[in-house]
Amino acid sequence: MPNRERATCKACSRHKSVCGPISWAGYCGICGPLIYNANSDQLHEGDGPFYEHWNNRTLLAAHRRRLAYTKGT
Ligand SMILES: [Zn+2]
Repeated sequence: MPNRERATCKACSRHKSVCGPISWAGYCGICGPLIYNANSDQLHEGDGPFYEHWNNRTLLAAHRRRLAYTKGT
């Protein structure tokens, strides 16, 4: 089910009249699968900007849990 309120793709900025329906994540039918595949490939290989983002957010979440645990005791 496409997002009917969004008019342009977040990645390629094409209008939905040109590229087709836009997903709820904000991507067209070409950019969405490309980003999905790049993301899963980079997580598997452990290298690239998607992997770096995931790694940083995971480390930050672990740090927050550790701080919350330390404050609680
Ligand atoms: Zn696009």
